[in-house]
Amino acid sequence: MYIRRIDSGIPFDSSIYLVVGERTMLVDAGSGLGHRNVADAIRSILGERNLDMVVATHCHYDHVGGLAAIVEEFGCEAYAGELDAQSIRDADDRYTLASAFDGVVRPVDVRDLKDGDVLDLGDSRFRVISTPGHTRGSICLYDEASGALISGDTLFETGVGRTDFAGGSMTDLRRSLTVLSNIDIRELYPGHGKECESYDPAMMARIMNLVGM
Ligand SMILES: [Zn+2]
Repeated sequence: MYIRRIDSGIPFDSSIYLVVGERTMLVDAGSGLGHRNVADAIRSILGERNLDMVVATHCHYDHVGGLAAIVEEFGCEAYAGELDAQSIRDADDRYTLASAFDGVVRPVDVRDLKDGDVLDLGDSRFRVISTPGHTRGSICLYDEASGALISGDTLFETGVGRTDFAGGSMTDLRRSLTVLSNIDIRELYPGHGKECESYDPAMMARIMNLVGM
């Protein structure tokens, strides 16, 4: 299994990760404004193989505006944490923030993921960790064997995501950080900024301190 970050060419887009194992998974889709770049990058990495699934770490426009186009192009399954999955199915602007970005989220028939669910790529298994706080249904994906955590906007290299949007909660985010502080994170793939291929565990303590824990 390996993880590649894909550049959509749109500055405010989320990070988009392609996880290539025996099965293949895209994590987050960006706003969709750079869909052609994203789809072409996926094809050039996968060659003849197809994309098996796309997972949204949460329902914000800069992560899921491109979800519908990815599903249409690759015919893959789409997943999200259950509360945010509902917001994506409904294209609920209160939670997707699409109009705040002057953008559009088209409704997608995403399936619910619950805490503890496993996304099995054959040679690697990503466990779903429910991490509400940035949104109600934010999730992280964790591969125990490699120590890779794909963290969405819950955890960045040097901080955490905002909690002042609809559905955000600093109390929930603190609880989620406690959960994350108990796992062995060796690689971090955050929703914005670059990935850290050797994550410093001391950073987690600093971040927890930063948010008053
Ligand atoms: Zn977000």
